[in-house]
Amino acid sequence: MNPFPEQLTKFAWASPETPTRRLLVVEDENHIAVGLRFNLEAEGYTVTLAEDGENALRLCTQSVEPFDLIVLDVMLPGISGFEVAQTLRAAGNYVPVLMLTARGRPEDVVSGFAAGADDYLPKPFELAVLLARIQALLRRTYWARHTEKPGKASPPNGLPVCFELGEKVILFDDLKILDGEREVPLTLMESNLLKYLIEHEGRAVSRKSLLEDVWGLHEDTDTRAIDNFIVRLRRYLEDDPQNPKHLLTVRGVGYRFESGGGE
Ligand code: CA
Repeated sequence: MNPFPEQLTKFAWASPETPTRRLLVVEDENHIAVGLRFNLEAEGYTVTLAEDGENALRLCTQSVEPFDLIVLDVMLPGISGFEVAQTLRAAGNYVPVLMLTARGRPEDVVSGFAAGADDYLPKPFELAVLLARIQALLRRTYWARHTEKPGKASPPNGLPVCFELGEKVILFDDLKILDGEREVPLTLMESNLLKYLIEHEGRAVSRKSLLEDVWGLHEDTDTRAIDNFIVRLRRYLEDDPQNPKHLLTVRGVGYRFESGGGE
């Protein structure tokens, strides 16, 4: 009788495609940074620390091997975590970003997502929760990046994998939009937001329900922050983003998706 069937299965699954994951931790509070590195290394990750945003960006551009994930504190000396995420995305770097926000500041969460973060965790957090989030984000982006054909090896969550919009094909789980020869990468949150709007096609979706259902934010948040996101999605999807035909504004409510191009 095999006493370790579970471990063997786990190991067999993990071994061929799980090389050491390289994490960048951007945190200016030294005791937190060092504690994180200690614990993450104990979990088998390779950890690089950056004490501010400028260094984080430098490491991201200069590093020979790309990072697999960034743990990014919002409050940093010099440029903020938001600016770091924004700069990375603007430069076409789509490394998964887990943002550390201040508790009780839901507007930070929205700004974080708008800047291109994939997930967030309010400080102070429990180590176990952080580890779980990191694992989930790595697994999720691993699936997204390594699923060759839509539908073939999609993640086991039963979500729609793609949507055709005119010439464009949105691959939710691959986190990208194919536009002829062009490929537009999406962050996890952009993909989730778009998927939600498309699933509710033809119906007005309020900003509040987007915040609650897509991002799990139930606190009293300035819902207008979601508008930045829509501006970005329009740039990806619309032929004329100033005059959208698919991601329509519903005055006083929120947004409505129309695949046929509502007038
Ligand atoms: Ca800080």
